[in-house]
Amino acid sequence: MEKKNHPSTSPMISVEEALNIVLSVSQQARLKPITVPFHDALGMILAEDVSAPDPLPPYPASIKDGYAVIASDGPGEYTVIAESRAGNDALGVTVTPGTVAYVTTGGPIPYGADAVVQIEDTEHMKDSSSGLKKVKIFARASPGLDIRPVGCDIEKGATILKSGEQVGISEIGLLATMGVMMVKVYPRPSVAVLSTGDELVEPTTQLLSYGQIRDSNRAMLLAAAKQQQCNTIDLAIANDNEEDVERILDSAISAGIDVLFTSGGVSMGDRDFVKPLLGKRGTIHFNRVQMKPGKPLTFAEISVKSTEGRAAKKILAFGLPGNPVSCLVCFHLFGVPAIRCLAGWENPRLQRVHARIAKPIKTDPIRTEFHRAIIRWELNDGSGDPGFVAESTGHQLSSRLLSMKSANALLELPATGMVLPAGMSVQAILISDISIFPMSKATSSMASLSLGLNSTQGKSITHTQAVPESQDAKVKVAVLTVSDTVAAGAGPDRSGPRAVSVVNASSERLGGAKVVATAVVPDEVCEIQNVVRRWSDTDKVELILTLGGTGFTPRDVTPEATKGLIDKETPGLLHVMLQESLKVTPFAMLSRAVAGIRGSTLIINMPGNPNAVAECMEALSPALKHALRQIKGDKKEKHPRHVPHAEAEPTDVWERSFQLASSGIESTCSCEH
Ligand code: AMP
Ligand code: MG
Repeated sequence: MEKKNHPSTSPMISVEEALNIVLSVSQQARLKPITVPFHDALGMILAEDVSAPDPLPPYPASIKDGYAVIASDGPGEYTVIAESRAGNDALGVTVTPGTVAYVTTGGPIPYGADAVVQIEDTEHMKDSSSGLKKVKIFARASPGLDIRPVGCDIEKGATILKSGEQVGISEIGLLATMGVMMVKVYPRPSVAVLSTGDELVEPTTQLLSYGQIRDSNRAMLLAAAKQQQCNTIDLAIANDNEEDVERILDSAISAGIDVLFTSGGVSMGDRDFVKPLLGKRGTIHFNRVQMKPGKPLTFAEISVKSTEGRAAKKILAFGLPGNPVSCLVCFHLFGVPAIRCLAGWENPRLQRVHARIAKPIKTDPIRTEFHRAIIRWELNDGSGDPGFVAESTGHQLSSRLLSMKSANALLELPATGMVLPAGMSVQAILISDISIFPMSKATSSMASLSLGLNSTQGKSITHTQAVPESQDAKVKVAVLTVSDTVAAGAGPDRSGPRAVSVVNASSERLGGAKVVATAVVPDEVCEIQNVVRRWSDTDKVELILTLGGTGFTPRDVTPEATKGLIDKETPGLLHVMLQESLKVTPFAMLSRAVAGIRGSTLIINMPGNPNAVAECMEALSPALKHALRQIKGDKKEKHPRHVPHAEAEPTDVWERSFQLASSGIESTCSCEH
């Protein structure tokens, strides 16, 4: 049966919106906790607290190999009345004044003893007359020395594991040591995987007919689901015909699955039946997402009514795009958080880190791109600081599965259409276990990251690398994002990339300006100052734009950091930015921004809002080129003539001083007023 028309049934939504929908639906579908033997619980999320039924250690135990003594006895010669090795050797023995007991690490301290003297502070002796073992004690012990009292590791009744925590290897150890044999956890979701497409054949097919390809998605998704600890059901390949897809969907739905992943058949082809069929069975929440790759992602929720012996439940259904890369990227970005939600994770989102791109990357003008990359930790990422460096996996075609190979991160690149310079910090979404990340290659790779711009010591500029366009920058610009959130990897840096595009786009007007460095720092005076100082003093950057941290909140300190660095203030620039921003929001008046000159660098605090950055740059651009030349000491650089502001009445002190400045009058002092 052929479909007549195939309209896109819902608007394209952002990735964040889509993820929020997936998470809220998944949270409502969270699986009911079950009780399992503790050794089966590895990787599962606890559904209740676990407390210690016994103290650990259950008896006072020796920390050292040595002699259990009565501390007040002090140094001297003593009779060894017992040997208490781990186990119960010294059961019933009491250490009395003038006697000691030999103990080994972990062995119970015999009654009467209140300290341990380590073997190194003793000397073994033989008493030939009595035949008793004797020891010379050289050190004076204080009571309690080298003894682990009862419950010193774990107190009886203490909560050792909390509901919501994941059972890892050490948690298994804790459960074992406490004798807690059964634990209440969220179950592993059951995930079914179906491939759709007439062109698909089993991977076992050795001779392909013309037009056939082997099904890679199913094997990949089944493996990915297993990696997420799911139980998996292989639904094989469905042909591109409605009856076939419908039959398999129905059998999967009635098989008690929790999540269904289909791949293929969700685009605009005349045989793409998955979307309408999911719509027929349940509610489609979205079917187009503003992302690259993965635009035609469909997410639906199917409610299954209760039947005899089975309770009502919700099935999450993902109609993933057919192209293998799109398919897997969507699985990571939406499938993994959904599975985690069902499995009881309290924070099911994927982890993010900041990584500096090793080479320039061109971004998409419309869709947020999830660029496949291999990130690794570099002890020196080119700035002198340790950090993650991201290397692209090459051509990012959504059919090119090799672009996914070895990728441990998806770089989230906001849709600006601009080329991001090498060294720029971007958010990297982790798609594999961080403990298996590759380490820094060799020092040569660090060297390849350094910029060495005008640096006398040959040191590199902070956090960036020369890009072809920026090497010939006539005016070097650096952009510093100041944000606790971005620095902590808890949110994307929207302002930084925007400022880079704005500067690079108005390069001509700014006299050949190019962004040569970017960085992200938290709202900390020292951190801001370190970067700005290095950019200004060592790397001789002409213009530094800081973004954010200029408001009234206690953490906003960018103006204070800047004040501590500049030699001269440039209030006119602030005035123009304020005027411009006030047109958009009255909150602009809350800006405490500072601008000024340090050596031959102009430093301007800009707002954190990405749109405000663009507006402010636009407002400043008529005078910036001129200003930067003047700072460099270009005496010939006269103020261009223009309609004098004096024709308009100055409205306040700021405006008056700005007029004086722009008319070339050196002193803009307030004593004129
Ligand atoms: P579709 O989403 O069905 O339009 O498919 C888009 C592209 O992905 C086509 O080139 C398909 O041949 C390819 N494709 C679809 N499903 C698979 C699969 N399971 N394995 C490999 N390639 C696939
Ligand atoms: Mg297809």
